[in-house]
Amino acid sequence: MARASLSAPDYLICCDCESPCYVFEWQEGEVSEAICETCGNDDETTFLTEDQYDAYADSGSWNYRGR
Ligand SMILES: [Zn+2]
Repeated sequence: MARASLSAPDYLICCDCESPCYVFEWQEGEVSEAICETCGNDDETTFLTEDQYDAYADSGSWNYRGR
């Protein structure tokens, strides 16, 4: 991540449909639960913050997440 922040972002980006998602739980700097209202995705590991999404777009891989 470009900056380490423990505060919740305004929204997350669903990687299945690349839509902003406003329905999520945020704990200790990461997503604990999220649901995409656009495509129904509820796998929290596939949601990224805007910063993470930018890093993903730059790197073209998921490796930076460490999962
Ligand atoms: Zn989605």
